[in-house]
Amino acid sequence: MYDVVIAGAGTGGAYAAYLLSKRGFKVALLESKSGPQLGVKVCGDGLGKHHVERMSRYLTPNPTVFSNVIKGVELFSPDMSVRYIVAGEGYVLDRFEWGKWLIREAVNAGAELYEAHTVMGPILESGAVVGVKARDHKTGNVKEFRAKLVIDASGSAGSVRTKLPEEWPISERLQPEDVSHAFREVAEVEVDVEAHEYIKIYLSSVVAPGGYWWIFPRAPNIINVGLGIWGKLKINPVDNYKKHILPLPLMKGRKVIHAGGGYIPTRRPLKSLVANGILAVGDAAAAVNPIHGGGIGQALLSAELAAEAFEDAAVEGGYDAAALWRYNVRYMRAWGYRQAQLDVFRLMLQTLSDEELNYGLSRKLLTEDEIYQISARGIHNLSLLDKFKIAIRFMGRPSVLAKLATAIQYAKEIGDMYLEYPEDPSGLPKWNFAVVNKFNEFRRKMGLGPLPL
Ligand SMILES: Cc1cc2nc3c(=O)[nH]c(=O)nc-3n(C[C@H](O)[C@H](O)[C@H](O)COP(=O)(O)OP(=O)(O)OC[C@H]3O[C@@H](n4cnc5c(N)ncnc54)[C@H](O)[C@@H]3O)c2cc1C
Repeated sequence: MYDVVIAGAGTGGAYAAYLLSKRGFKVALLESKSGPQLGVKVCGDGLGKHHVERMSRYLTPNPTVFSNVIKGVELFSPDMSVRYIVAGEGYVLDRFEWGKWLIREAVNAGAELYEAHTVMGPILESGAVVGVKARDHKTGNVKEFRAKLVIDASGSAGSVRTKLPEEWPISERLQPEDVSHAFREVAEVEVDVEAHEYIKIYLSSVVAPGGYWWIFPRAPNIINVGLGIWGKLKINPVDNYKKHILPLPLMKGRKVIHAGGGYIPTRRPLKSLVANGILAVGDAAAAVNPIHGGGIGQALLSAELAAEAFEDAAVEGGYDAAALWRYNVRYMRAWGYRQAQLDVFRLMLQTLSDEELNYGLSRKLLTEDEIYQISARGIHNLSLLDKFKIAIRFMGRPSVLAKLATAIQYAKEIGDMYLEYPEDPSGLPKWNFAVVNKFNEFRRKMGLGPLPL
């Protein structure tokens, strides 16, 4: 019997375990992987500095987890004729060291780590989650771990929440169009990468339709290189990697350090991240930035909010959906509203052709600064004047102008709806109905079908 059982010791789970253990709670951290595989995660390894600064209020990262300090992003148009430099400091992580360090911190703070334990699903009693069942790889036995709260931190699979009854809002399944399929290698290359203090993002519907491909340098001669493709298109990213990225001159003679793939939720927030006795963090909560697929920072943020919500619930002595609801509200206000806004832009961008993107980027329809403002602060900070300037600059291409203007309008409206997320579970059906309608209205204007539900 624990205060909290956490399924998955990735960034979100290990950090939540650390935060809760530090506050004196009895925590079990269950992880499928074991031994040297603990902390290993296929990722682009990029992390914005602001996430590290926020985290440092609770835990200061060991400097050895940072492989490279980043000044910003170089963004390339599909025809490679335009290069934007978008400001934004950050790091390329030694990702495996990061993962192992977080688990060590959790254990040092008092969390009980059960490695080689795969969570099979929730234990449900009287309409509430009261624990999980997990298979111990060494013995083959299935064990029960009971707790006041279960945190699903099992990554994009959402191994606990998706096994809950369909009528529970938290169990919402990811649709193919809600995810990106990604593949990446970490490799040592023979020729140093230019400007290795910038991560590089390349837009191309040929290489990475509905997504992008990237080079994130860990050092001048060590790169994380990969691509993400919109799940709806059902294209295997490995095929495109082999066809379009491996033949690049930079890749000649490379030594592969690690290769692997995965899928990333790139969508609006789940309608609820809590239910009786359970909440979800990180990828299990689909907390990722829908535009660029970065989710390490959001895994950290959601773990912080989850620890706070549990502490508050513990004071009140109740762990049902109503008691945990403040986690939903705080999540939507801290990040969810921006996630929804960025999802509006994601959908709009996925309707643009390479030719339209080339046009937009070459005319600076959005400047580097505007891109930074939207991605860092959301749409609320784009002043009317800026929007007007954008409209004038778009005059040469009314269809692109109309799409961008529509996206700005809907991003604002939808973001505002998330800021008005209901204060208790009773308001959810009405709120969700209105949000789905608003998304569908926007999708119709973009020539997309209704939300797959
Ligand atoms: C190719 C790729 C590139 C990416 N690039 C970036 C990037 O550059 N920057 C960025 O910020 N984000 C990036 N992301 C996303 C980022 O990796 C995730 O958002 C982040 O790692 C989420 O952390 P998490 O703890 O929620 O999930 P995870 O890191 O996936 O951790 C989940 C953990 O749960 C364990 N687990 C799963 N199921 C079970 C089970 N049933 N029982 C027990 N344990 C279980 C897993 O083994 C894993 O350790 C990328 C993702 C991919 C796939």
